[in-house]
Amino acid sequence: MRSIFAGIMKCRHCGGTVTRINKGEHVYLVCAAAHAKAGTCKYESVPYAEAVSTFRHFLRRTLDEAPRGNDTAALNDKIAQLQAEIDAGEDRVTELLELTISDKSRAARQALREAEQELAGAEEALREALERRDTLTSTNVLNRLAAVEKALTAEPMDTEEANKALRGAVRKMTMWPQEGRLDILWHHVEEPQETTFLTTRFDWDANEIEDLKEED
Ligand SMILES: [Zn+2]
Repeated sequence: MRSIFAGIMKCRHCGGTVTRINKGEHVYLVCAAAHAKAGTCKYESVPYAEAVSTFRHFLRRTLDEAPRGNDTAALNDKIAQLQAEIDAGEDRVTELLELTISDKSRAARQALREAEQELAGAEEALREALERRDTLTSTNVLNRLAAVEKALTAEPMDTEEANKALRGAVRKMTMWPQEGRLDILWHHVEEPQETTFLTTRFDWDANEIEDLKEED
């Protein structure tokens, strides 16, 4: 059986191929060198099903935030900022909605209306920014990203099709399982995109310690 990551996923330790292996009834992603001969590289396994599942789970966000190349870096920052504003705006509207149920004052209704208007404004700005980025992005890149979306969201997903679409768009990927991170280096840009990659290999303790250290 093939992996949707075949030919793309590289080992973060040696840079070599990460391959799909069967161990009894379980299927894992492992550095091919470490699997072939003990001691050649670090033996670090990630359950294949979890890797596919987390990749598909965060795909929408990954594709929204994927760099488009050319002159769209500033627009990408703006899009990320608007998305954060919208998340916060939605929370605020929900809170105010709850408040207006208990507090029927004019002030409460007014605050809700204002929050709704702000949210609508941010949503409109996001739509415009996304459209503008599309016009600046080359057709090639758009087609490749669309192919990834189509193949990876298909139900049921075809492994060969998914792999073909990913190979068309991605030069390489590197997993950081303990950190919950997957770096994606797209064909059309030079810098990798950091995405979320949550599996049972995520190290909650280590990452909590990191957070505490940053606060010091
Ligand atoms: Zn390796």
